[in-house]
Amino acid sequence: MGIPILTLKATDARLFARDAANGDAEARRELSEAFANWDRDSFECFCCGKDQSIEQAMPATYLVPDPVHDSQYLAVGLCLECYALPQLYRLAKVRRVLKALYPRYRVNLIAAKRLPP
Ligand SMILES: [Zn+2]
Repeated sequence: MGIPILTLKATDARLFARDAANGDAEARRELSEAFANWDRDSFECFCCGKDQSIEQAMPATYLVPDPVHDSQYLAVGLCLECYALPQLYRLAKVRRVLKALYPRYRVNLIAAKRLPP
């Protein structure tokens, strides 16, 4: 149980996200291993709240801007089902959760490939 969330420096997170989206193997590996230290049997998907056993898969890493701290990004863990959604659906789902968590936050998510450095 528990929702996987890590905070990252925004500058690092943007680089990772952009490089990974452009096919950089190292950046992809780093992202996919963000929750490698998750030491519980299961986790709660950030998007849908469903419990997923880590025997099925580790949390899939998804980066979003930290609604509270401009200089940070959040790496959140998604279940296989949510992670497999088409990008726009995934964005919409994550946005809905962020809006619920931070009602005053204006969510502005940018496709990773177009992130500024
Ligand atoms: Zn999910």
